Amino acid sequence: VPTARLDRLLANLGYASRREIQALAKNGHITLDGAPLTAADRRIALTPDLETRLVVDGEALDPLPGFALMLNKPLGVTCSRKEAGPLVYDLLPERWRRRDPAISTVGRLDKETSGLLLMTDDGALLHRIISPKRHVAKRYRVGLARPLTGGEADLFAAGTLMLDGEEKPLAPAELEVVGPQEALLTVHEGRYHQVRRMFAAAGNHVETLHRESVGGLTLPADLAPGAIRRLGEADLAAIF
Ligand code: URA
Repeated sequence: VPTARLDRLLANLGYASRREIQALAKNGHITLDGAPLTAADRRIALTPDLETRLVVDGEALDPLPGFALMLNKPLGVTCSRKEAGPLVYDLLPERWRRRDPAISTVGRLDKETSGLLLMTDDGALLHRIISPKRHVAKRYRVGLARPLTGGEADLFAAGTLMLDGEEKPLAPAELEVVGPQEALLTVHEGRYHQVRRMFAAAGNHVETLHRESVGGLTLPADLAPGAIRRLGEADLAAIF
């Protein structure tokens, strides 16, 4: 089990500077198993139960490093810190935005795409999910400007579709028609604006785009737009 100095752990979780944490500890604001932990240089074992045993200012500890969450991404917020407008990071608890390692999105959704977005501070987990080699399935509900013609499923399944400006054809993707202008599309890659460009290549135009699942993990019906939920072991296992 890894260990960390108390002041360093809390500073990296975004609570305060190490100096401020030393003062908090000294003044009895930090407790472990109910007893004040006054020496901020104490090394503590980072066992999962620390999140309930270590209490800062009366509140249970934030998630230890190495966690993941899901967000029901609302429309109009961006995943990229380089774009203008509100960011998905603004939807996290304020302290979580100061963590080191930082929390980042697992891939990206466009500003005008809604639905299941995973976030994590665990680089290895992130790469496992987005790695092209693992081809984790991503399922989107797509609303279209024009009626489907009937040829789209074969076009997407062929594994030969070339997007403008790219050198490699798209891997096969599965289309399920749910209405004249609505479909579910499952892709196994994460190319830039992939779903929008696929339908553009089919002569249509995507009007609404919503991600419903990543691997076997589906956006829960009770997770409101803008809300986040921590992933448990079963959720993580469902992705792969
Ligand atoms: N494909 C897109 O075009 N946009 C997204 O946000 C996700 C997949």
